[in-house]
Amino acid sequence: MPLVDLHTHSTCSDGALAPAQLVRQAAAAGVHVLALTDHDTVDGVEEAQREADAVGIRLIPGLELSTSWKGISIHIVGLGVDVAHAGFVEGLASQASARGQRARQIADRLEGLRLSGAYAGALALAGGDPDRISRTHFAQWLLGNGRVSSMQGAFDKYLGNGKPADVPMPWLALPDAVALIRSAGGTAVLAHPGRYPLTRTKLRTLIGLFTEAGGEAMEVATATEKPDMVRYLAQLAVQGGLEASQGSDFHGPHMPWIHLGRFPALPAGCQPVWRRWVGEEGQLSLLES
Ligand code: AMP
Ligand code: MN
Ligand code: MN
Ligand code: MN
Repeated sequence: MPLVDLHTHSTCSDGALAPAQLVRQAAAAGVHVLALTDHDTVDGVEEAQREADAVGIRLIPGLELSTSWKGISIHIVGLGVDVAHAGFVEGLASQASARGQRARQIADRLEGLRLSGAYAGALALAGGDPDRISRTHFAQWLLGNGRVSSMQGAFDKYLGNGKPADVPMPWLALPDAVALIRSAGGTAVLAHPGRYPLTRTKLRTLIGLFTEAGGEAMEVATATEKPDMVRYLAQLAVQGGLEASQGSDFHGPHMPWIHLGRFPALPAGCQPVWRRWVGEEGQLSLLES
């Protein structure tokens, strides 16, 4: 069967590899079907598509939308989106400018904590585009300046939920994010459901809301998930009538514990969301692009 990785990042958000480089590394790692899912943008899709055509792998145009639900940031992956759809492009533009404004606010808070130069530092790490600045870039800057000893430390001390430089965001509401993805012909996938600070009861509530909004799949097998959690998520997907997705959430070689195409196997009983793009016998479908 083809190797399918449906969650990856490039330099168009907080990944370390340019889209073409990412595609080349994925192909070298044996990936046959790759989704590029940058945070709140599809800017890398065109370049990734060109390279995918050149190296002969299937690229699924995607993204990972930031949404808020009960004060928590919930990520929704969109797969198979039409990147040129006008309403979709417009929706992403407002999400991007919210990201750009938040970067200024995060930097102001860091200045208040006597951490000066954060904005210029994060901007440079984001390749000079303010609308691409992610908390990851601030974390990298803090780490590079010796203010923390790890990326995790940067989130624990400054950037994580409720920490001094955390700026609560008016991201898209979760149902609006699902609608935006669907409006562009995409499939909405609840990202890494095991990673949110939610009780199991609240996680079920979230999955219910996501499904009602038109969400069709949830990630079950992701790189950092423990076997018990993968089994639990598989159960939730099957019970909730959602298809299952899988992906590495690869950000680059600076996170050496995550590899393209490598994550736990999808438990039996799950309906793979990638049936849309990969036929029963494993042949890559030419029907959709
Ligand atoms: P943002 O979209 O700007 O809010 O940034 C969120 C990104 O920060 C996530 O996609 C992760 O890549 C990264 N991130 C979040 N929490 C952590 C953490 N504890 N350690 C390292 N990276 C994190
Ligand atoms: Mn990220
Ligand atoms: Mn995410
Ligand atoms: Mn991600």
